[in-house]
Amino acid sequence: MDQAMLSVVRAVEAGATTMKSVIDATGLSRLKIERALTALEKQKLLVRDDQGFRATGLPKSASPTRQCGTCNACCDILEVAAVDKPVNQLCKHWQTGAGCTIYDRRPQMCRSFACAWLQGHLDETWFPAQSGIIVHFSQDAVNVTVDDHCPDRWREEPYFSKLAEWSLNGIRRIGNRGYATLVVSGKSKFLLLGRTIVPEPTLAGTAFLPLTADTFRFWRATSAEHLQRLHERIAEMERIRQEFGACAIPDSEDDDPQPPYRPALLRLSKLG
Ligand code: SF4
Ligand code: SF4
Repeated sequence: MDQAMLSVVRAVEAGATTMKSVIDATGLSRLKIERALTALEKQKLLVRDDQGFRATGLPKSASPTRQCGTCNACCDILEVAAVDKPVNQLCKHWQTGAGCTIYDRRPQMCRSFACAWLQGHLDETWFPAQSGIIVHFSQDAVNVTVDDHCPDRWREEPYFSKLAEWSLNGIRRIGNRGYATLVVSGKSKFLLLGRTIVPEPTLAGTAFLPLTADTFRFWRATSAEHLQRLHERIAEMERIRQEFGACAIPDSEDDDPQPPYRPALLRLSKLG
């Protein structure tokens, strides 16, 4: 269930029975709500009849049975541009003992935010107030934001293995069902490729090739055209593997291959 669907279900459970009241409660566009409603109807989580919308119940993994309780990690760790809140700085609207002092007019991001732990996707070891790690889903990524008081916590167990597992799932999904697993810790950003950590991934993208079941060789592209050439060379490596049973993998991380790729790869593999 994505964030829009969860917001819509929560609004309906809270008593919103018409399109207008769902728009008011969620702040989502009519189009997004309509998509979420259709998806929820297909999953039999919501019905529409002449009395409006009615929720039929949520699957356990997305059930809002958990409460934030003592946690205020998202008011501390995440960036909330609407209230000029930078990452890893307690929001100026947070007051100990009182909580959010602008609760009734808090920004939409705060209203709709539900971390993966709150949604029931993670066990108690991931409770953000204790783990210092907030996981949240966006359309094409699992986003992991780490408290700067424990910047390497995500590399520890049981966290790292779970993140590596998610990353592999995201890589194996086909086409636009795939997703990236991204970690932001202080000023550092990382992309996970299974158990391989790509520091400071570039906006142009990362090309990668499996080395083992859960590790990868990667090359960070500096432009769309560079990424294309890296992919073409990987495709050539795969052709050589099929033809000769093996192909050496160039080990320079940031190299910039130029066609034709085959002669250089055959030389490196001592096949040419
Ligand atoms: S990080 Fe999750 S559990 Fe903590 S306050 Fe935010 S939504 Fe609630
Ligand atoms: S506005 Fe309120 S809910 Fe939003 S980050 Fe600040 S304290 Fe938290």
